[in-house]
Amino acid sequence: MANPISRKRPRMDETQTINDVKAVRRSITFWFSDGSVVLQGEDTQFRVHKSMLALHSVVFRDTFQVSQPASGEESVEGCPVVHLTETAEDVEYMLSALYERKKRPQPAPFSFLSAMLRLGRKYDIQHILDEAVEILDLAFPSSLAEYQRVVETKNGDVIEYSLDMMIDLANLALDMSRHSILPTIYFIICRDFDAVLKGAQRANGTTAKLDENTKDVIIWGREELLKKLPTSIFSWVKRTSSPGCFGPRKNCVATLHEIMEKMWTGQSRQLACFAPIDDFIPSGCRACSQCLQEMRAIHTDQQKELWIELPKYFGWESWEEARS
Ligand SMILES: [Zn+2]
Repeated sequence: MANPISRKRPRMDETQTINDVKAVRRSITFWFSDGSVVLQGEDTQFRVHKSMLALHSVVFRDTFQVSQPASGEESVEGCPVVHLTETAEDVEYMLSALYERKKRPQPAPFSFLSAMLRLGRKYDIQHILDEAVEILDLAFPSSLAEYQRVVETKNGDVIEYSLDMMIDLANLALDMSRHSILPTIYFIICRDFDAVLKGAQRANGTTAKLDENTKDVIIWGREELLKKLPTSIFSWVKRTSSPGCFGPRKNCVATLHEIMEKMWTGQSRQLACFAPIDDFIPSGCRACSQCLQEMRAIHTDQQKELWIELPKYFGWESWEEARS
């Protein structure tokens, strides 16, 4: 692999003035007076320790072993300057993970996860790569119970489930070959058809968009899921009431229809197929206990079956295959 780190002084183009060079700023957090190397990402410099970087990264270790800085090489306070191609924010996340290992933003923003995955891989720093993977595995579980706990009931504060972040993460996970989380992410995205087609706006006003191939995969999966639901999770609707109904039957029928209507009303609710059924049972429910119990049993059994099959809707044979 070509060494991704350049120790050469960056070339100045003809329009660049000495003032541009002076615009370089020092990191407040990572400027150690006993640091032995200055990393620079964009216009920000970080004075850190070669030994610390070399301890965690073979790539940095090899870079520092190549040679001592030649005379005339760019330096600051006697420390060689190493120019990185990453943004200042990315470099800060990496250093934070190396120097302040317990500090993890919660909920983790996309920029953090992206930096940890990309820099972890590029500089071969296994523990920061592992940390990002651990967060993603927690945020996008492959078990239904965990999915319901973390995503549907928003019980986890691991990440924020904004649509723009889901789309950015889908693209990143695909790019980084982290397929195990994709069935869950694709399902979350597919519930909003507008976002699938047009993308979703980020906080900075730009738009997160799926690539064309992923868009096709998700549209197909969504269509197949919608076709499947009436005969699986919502098959209790056809019963209208349980054969063992305690009555009055018309109250049970009315309530079951009310639940069904709640689940299907509105674009985002159409694919509420993995939401806990109790979220949809109205307060002051007038259905008898027998009808409710039967509906819950059919619904939850079918949810479990459909969850096992979820990866098939998006191009994987099984969760195992997505994980491998
Ligand atoms: Zn009943």
